[in-house]
Amino acid sequence: MIPKIELHLHIEGAAPPAFIRGLAAEKHIDISGIFNERGHYAYRDFWDFLRVYEAATSVLQTPEDFARLTRAVLEESAANGVIYTEAFLSPDFCGGRDLSAWRDYLAAIQEAAAEVEAQGGPILRGIITPIRHFGPEKARETALCAAETAGDFIVGFGMGGDEKAGEPKDFQYSFDMAREAGLRLTCHAGEWGGPDSVRRAWRDLRVERIGHGVRAIEDPALVDDLAEAGVVLEVCPGSNVALGLYKDWRAHPIGRLYERGVKVTVSTDDPPFFHTTLTREYDRLAEALDWDDAVFHTLNRTAAEAAFCDGATRAALIKRLEGQP
Ligand SMILES: [Zn+2]
Repeated sequence: MIPKIELHLHIEGAAPPAFIRGLAAEKHIDISGIFNERGHYAYRDFWDFLRVYEAATSVLQTPEDFARLTRAVLEESAANGVIYTEAFLSPDFCGGRDLSAWRDYLAAIQEAAAEVEAQGGPILRGIITPIRHFGPEKARETALCAAETAGDFIVGFGMGGDEKAGEPKDFQYSFDMAREAGLRLTCHAGEWGGPDSVRRAWRDLRVERIGHGVRAIEDPALVDDLAEAGVVLEVCPGSNVALGLYKDWRAHPIGRLYERGVKVTVSTDDPPFFHTTLTREYDRLAEALDWDDAVFHTLNRTAAEAAFCDGATRAALIKRLEGQP
């Protein structure tokens, strides 16, 4: 139960199925088709996963729903020893990218997070995420929401969604707007796209972290470049295995990337969708790669240094990783 830092978590994707079912029942919405007989989220492949994800998300309709979601997610994080989480928050799902609606959702999320933090629970910071397959125009509206609400809580901007939709450079305008507003940048790449997608996201969007990025392993020169530049990968091994990107944990490249000097971190992405938790990720990695506490300590230290929070928060996190109160 070592203290953990998580940099890649989609807040709606972290919604416990029981929480979503409860909300659907309250609102008389029938989403029974997205669950299997054991009550878990059920999907066939990545594209079907996106469909199920959007159906689950459809029951989250008000700022209060998101406040409750935030508490439910942070409760899970706390149960897994997480002391700091960066969650992807999407104005697409919070008021349809309308800035004033987004401010209401954000206030509710932030208030719930502040309560949890005041009670000694995990610290939450937000990364605004445009959805790639919604296209560059909608991403601009999302970037405007991000730029207008950047601050101590909204600290980053990072694109998720279907990596095969469009090119990173189509989203340059949005990333530039976010950067100018002082937000730190990350982008999903190198999950469904190959190493080239990592290079393009890195080069064209000037991000300092890559979401996933694991397929960089297919291009040794890129691995060297990432290691040398200190680009941090938000690796989510259980997500990759669950979605069939790698056949099992041993085949996952996180160990090889680490050995080659790439700054890797471990996160859960959308944990209940992948039947995982951060504790389970650590257990499986320890088993598959023979990693001990010293390796996990290094990964958490990397994550603390790569976190988009302010310096005082980072210093406090590093102290806690070192075992100080
Ligand atoms: Zn993700």
